[in-house]
Amino acid sequence: MPEIKVTPLGAGQDVGRSCILVSIGGKNIMLDCGMHMGYNDDRRFPDFSYITQNGRLTDFLDCVIISHFHLDHCGALPYMSEMVGYDGPIYMTHPTKAICPILLEDFRKITVDKKGETNFFTSQMIKDCMKKVIPLNLHQTVQVDDELEIKAYYAGHVLGAAMVHIKVGSESVVYTGDYNMTPDRHLGAAWIDKCRPDILISESTYATTIRDSKRCRERDFLKKVHESIERGGKVLIPVFALGRAQELCILLETFWERMNLKAPIYFSTGLTEKANHYYKLFITWTNQKIRKTFVQRNMFEFKHIKAFDRSYADNPGPMVVFATPGMLHAGQSLQIFKKWAGNEKNMVIMPGYCVQGTIGHKILNGQRKLEMEGRATLDVKLQVEYMSFSAHADAKGIMQLIRMAEPRNMLLVHGEAVKMEFLKGKIEQEFSIDCYMPANGETTTVTTNPSVPVDISLNLLKREMGLGGPLPDPKKPRTMHGTLIMKENSLKLVSSEQALKELGLNEHQLRFTCHVQLQDPHSDADTLHRIYTHLKSVLKGYTIQHLPDGTVIVESIVIKVSSSAEDSNTKVLLLSWSYQDEDLGSFLSSLLKKGLPSGIC
Ligand SMILES: [Zn+2]
Repeated sequence: MPEIKVTPLGAGQDVGRSCILVSIGGKNIMLDCGMHMGYNDDRRFPDFSYITQNGRLTDFLDCVIISHFHLDHCGALPYMSEMVGYDGPIYMTHPTKAICPILLEDFRKITVDKKGETNFFTSQMIKDCMKKVIPLNLHQTVQVDDELEIKAYYAGHVLGAAMVHIKVGSESVVYTGDYNMTPDRHLGAAWIDKCRPDILISESTYATTIRDSKRCRERDFLKKVHESIERGGKVLIPVFALGRAQELCILLETFWERMNLKAPIYFSTGLTEKANHYYKLFITWTNQKIRKTFVQRNMFEFKHIKAFDRSYADNPGPMVVFATPGMLHAGQSLQIFKKWAGNEKNMVIMPGYCVQGTIGHKILNGQRKLEMEGRATLDVKLQVEYMSFSAHADAKGIMQLIRMAEPRNMLLVHGEAVKMEFLKGKIEQEFSIDCYMPANGETTTVTTNPSVPVDISLNLLKREMGLGGPLPDPKKPRTMHGTLIMKENSLKLVSSEQALKELGLNEHQLRFTCHVQLQDPHSDADTLHRIYTHLKSVLKGYTIQHLPDGTVIVESIVIKVSSSAEDSNTKVLLLSWSYQDEDLGSFLSSLLKKGLPSGIC
């Protein structure tokens, strides 16, 4: 039986460092190549030695597909391609290809220039890596090679995020990357064909959450920001460069306008312009409302939101600052956090998921004393708020996607084990399909039943229809009789006559014969006639003939009678039939073995 194998090198029962290996129809595909934001050591990158100890990755992998630009999905890509060594194709959508190198460079700067880490990729490596990238369009089938094809679908989540359908022959896998099933203020909802993959590999960040309505969350968010501003506090909102930031900016901008608020709102320098540029460039990837309003005005050019300068953090009075990165693990958001953490009037609002090990994760878990570099401790007095604005599918959304794609099996990644376990139970119960949740390095194997397409000749179909029965219906399988011939790599089902003609072969007849002994004290001719009469009464709807040459014929079955040499009352019946009439032939032989009923003549 053919098999599909899935092995997470990262994101197996974990969030961060997404990297999933799929083996399907003899092809090996790497889905995402992310880095773990919670680690500073080797664990930061996936363990590529799992794929090969000493060979080249290029010899083992047929392609790499990146779902979106978040670093936990693409952060290890230059390391893999330029430092470990991979020269094969890398696929990602156009927006991801444009934005990914900027985020990689930002992260490289923080890690190498600020923290002084070595053994990290260089700017040149990022450039060289991006040269290997082949951009994908949505809904366009891309042939990686003769057998392997991939197709990208809209995933929402962030600009350019895509789900991907991977197909080899009739076997297929869908990988969702990160996605959300509800549209937000700037992006649309994820969507996929009813493609019935053998395995649907889905993220499960919010496996146990059914998030309250978006409006409530937004109102809550505005209320918190407003209260803090009113009491003269400063509000820090750590964000990813692109994504939630734009959504929250639109929200605050509208609120400030409506409430006529004066406190300044700042956004990390440089990022606004960059973000703006890309949203304009990839406007077709945003939602309809944004596309429409762009004609009149640019939704991302704000009246109340200004570029941030480091020195502003010390300004007196209230303010709101959007700063990157989103998990407070480095960079500007962390610097501001350190400055403001000691004042209980201030507030930090974490609008997204934080991976373990980051400061964001620690303060969300209630830690109030943080150990910083150089053994200093930081007392956290400011108010810590968590508002899930991350655009991930919640439990309801994941179930919705399963209904949409109708997979044969489900595999969960990018989530916490306990939460996955809960969702796995729900999925197995509701859809009666198997659900897997492999840990990192653990392989899930799923056997498939690949179907082989066969053409049927029109003549054969017509003949089959002539015998009655329902008309051909793709939803109702039925048995067809014919000869299967293989020509030019394709299979065809034709009538045996046509097969003989096409292949230039002679027909041979295969006949079965058997002897049946019978006690019947009559002449041979009488016995034969009694058999004829008996069969006429038993077999309805068959052509039965008694021929003058001393044979009885039923379809292709020939029956002859002779007397035994020792005893003239013992008759020996010779039955012979062609293989097409095997059922009828064996029925007749067992019928005659029982003898002829008395009273027939
Ligand atoms: Zn993401």
